[in-house]
Amino acid sequence: MAYQALYRVFRPQDFSSVVGQDVITKTLKNAVANKRTSHAYLFCGPRGTGKTSCAKILAKAINCLNPKDGEPCNECEICRDANENRLNDIIEIDAASNNGVEEIRDIRDKAKYAPTQAEYKVYIIDEVHMLSQGAFNALLKTLEEPPAKVVFILATTEPQKLPATIISRTQRFDFRRISKSEIISRLEFVLQDQDVKYDSQAIETIAVAAEGGMRDALSIADQAISFGDNELTLVNALQVTGSLRNDQLLDYFKDIANHDTASALKKLNDILISGRSAQRLTESIITLCRDLILVKSGNSDEVSQATMLNELNDMQNAFTQDRLFKIVDTVSDTQKNLKNSNQIDIYLEIMTVKSCEEISEQVETTPVESPQLQSQISSLEKQIEQLQEQVKHAPVATQAAPVAKPKTKTKKAKVVNKTAVFTILNGATKDDLNEVRDIWPDMMQMLPITQQAMMNVSKPVAASDNGIVVSFDYALWFEKVTQDQELLDTLKDNLGKLTKKNLDIVPVAESQWPDIRKEYLQEHQDEMTSDEETQDQPVAEKEETKAVSLAENLFGSDNITIKED
Ligand SMILES: [Zn+2]
Repeated sequence: MAYQALYRVFRPQDFSSVVGQDVITKTLKNAVANKRTSHAYLFCGPRGTGKTSCAKILAKAINCLNPKDGEPCNECEICRDANENRLNDIIEIDAASNNGVEEIRDIRDKAKYAPTQAEYKVYIIDEVHMLSQGAFNALLKTLEEPPAKVVFILATTEPQKLPATIISRTQRFDFRRISKSEIISRLEFVLQDQDVKYDSQAIETIAVAAEGGMRDALSIADQAISFGDNELTLVNALQVTGSLRNDQLLDYFKDIANHDTASALKKLNDILISGRSAQRLTESIITLCRDLILVKSGNSDEVSQATMLNELNDMQNAFTQDRLFKIVDTVSDTQKNLKNSNQIDIYLEIMTVKSCEEISEQVETTPVESPQLQSQISSLEKQIEQLQEQVKHAPVATQAAPVAKPKTKTKKAKVVNKTAVFTILNGATKDDLNEVRDIWPDMMQMLPITQQAMMNVSKPVAASDNGIVVSFDYALWFEKVTQDQELLDTLKDNLGKLTKKNLDIVPVAESQWPDIRKEYLQEHQDEMTSDEETQDQPVAEKEETKAVSLAENLFGSDNITIKED
């Protein structure tokens, strides 16, 4: 016999078979028994909690020829046709695909005609929050003057997206997540009925993974059974629930290990599209970090995900403990933000960017696991040394002269373009900086969301009439932005729109910025000391305060940390 999906075989056909929604099913049953049903219902709640099942049972019960205490008989002609989806008077509409005004107008026109076969015509509109504004208006008109013998059942996972005018014209029922123990006992019933042998730990694993949805629980059980030759084992249950979550999580985490921000952001997007909750994702990342820390410290037997031990072993060397702790901090902060925010995607993207860019302090001072990263850092250090040598031996006049703009610089894009920075510093004022800082949040708003997340780790640190210096929290992130000409062009365009000036944007890494700034101040202090008589100095103060005033003029007094060597 061909195998049929469990959730189809066990879709409840009467109210008493619905799991975990006793108050709702009892109320509906009484309404049917006493012939006091409403003309419009709203069923709200998470997916897989029985909204559509209850809507179908209700539609059948109010039309059943021999109802028993409000339950459909499932034997009369009407019940049988309804169970086989052949009853023309029960009309199911998926608003996710039929969200046009026309469809709802169509309902208004057709609803005027009497039911053909049953006593009531019942419209079940699934995912009703997806209707367009125009369709809502049309629906509202129908609900305001409901045709006789027509019942509307609206179902949604997101009632907060419905207009209050619609909600107030319906009788609302809130479906709750089904408890773990209720899911377990239903699974036991189903498996016994199907003569499937099962391990009770397997059922528990499935009940946890289903996150309160009965339909998900049955689907997962189905998959696990198909793995195990009509037997539900713990290993298979772990494997199946793992394939739902662990594979995606591990792929995502490998990108974090490799500092591959772009790929990690794409995987994050896939995870969110597949319907995983943000809370669940952040919990899983923290558990994974914890397990990696345990493996690294030689306590593999204590990991919470024993089935992932091979993957954990493979991955442990990609991280230092220090970096794992930092990632846990970042993810915990994100969890706090998620609780009070609608901007869930942005917070998760920022979390991803930060986790990718997070480098432990040990990485920069000791030989590390990733040879690629190590060689990047060494070459960067070498380039900086060379540049510093060049700057030291170059005549002062050459440095102060206008120089090549950053966009013409391609070969050594990873190095801070110090000449460009100095050019800006030559004309920098704190007023210019304050102006740029004021418009910075607006600049961020003008970017696409992914770029916003990337730029979240940036801040302007110096500004003049010809350009701004932007610092980035993480060195690798600075590198990425420096190489992203498209992003730099977009930023430059937006900056131009907001300031009406043609400003260059020069990125620096936050870790390098204090040294660059100090170097500039020292050089210009020397310059001032030697050429004081002949040059018209912007800051003509007493010698000992010269550097401080210069710095104040450039960056504002709150940013000064000058140490005399
Ligand atoms: Zn019946």
